[in-house]
Amino acid sequence: MSKADKLLALYQKLEQAAPTLPLATHATDIVPGEGSPDAKIMFIGEAPGQNEAVQRRPFVGKSGQLFRQVLRDVGFVEAEVYISNIVKVRPPENRDPVLEEITAYQPYLNQEIEIINPTLIVTLGRFSMAKFLPDVKVSQVHGRLHKVKWNGRVLFVLPMYHPAAALRATKMKAAFIQDFQRLPKIMKWIADHQETASLKQDIESTLL
Ligand code: URA
Repeated sequence: MSKADKLLALYQKLEQAAPTLPLATHATDIVPGEGSPDAKIMFIGEAPGQNEAVQRRPFVGKSGQLFRQVLRDVGFVEAEVYISNIVKVRPPENRDPVLEEITAYQPYLNQEIEIINPTLIVTLGRFSMAKFLPDVKVSQVHGRLHKVKWNGRVLFVLPMYHPAAALRATKMKAAFIQDFQRLPKIMKWIADHQETASLKQDIESTLL
């Protein structure tokens, strides 16, 4: 089965499970991830907002537009990355997702990560960061490359501010843009060091 077919099957399973999942009632409540199944970079946000729920696409509202613009500005093609969320259905009033919701959608996100098998995961905001780096604050580690052990494998994780936070404060927007500008260099660093990234090395170290 191709990666694209596996992703399709995963989202069909998720849509079928919708009536049993928190926040969801119908299959159409699910907002699937989008982008290339062969993406080297996978972005993980928090949860869909109103625009995302209507269009059934991640990051298409105001904060999504900022995110996608900055991504293009640093030279990436949207269709070549993969964009998804921790929780696949819009929480009411765009409130923060609660633990029960994050836990319910976790197996689906985990499978999504396994299928795509990206070189780098970029977390947008504290909820997706906490999946890989539970004990830190975004303000302390944003823009720094981390190597973490996750489900028995080594993953490179780059935490970033959520674009909604970047829209709220000029300082955060500047940091958000600066962190994105480091992405090409970080991808090159990973390509140069990938063979040495074995499980035996320090885990949860900050690399770059
Ligand atoms: N915020 C998110 O975290 N994800 C989206 O898809 C949209 C806004």
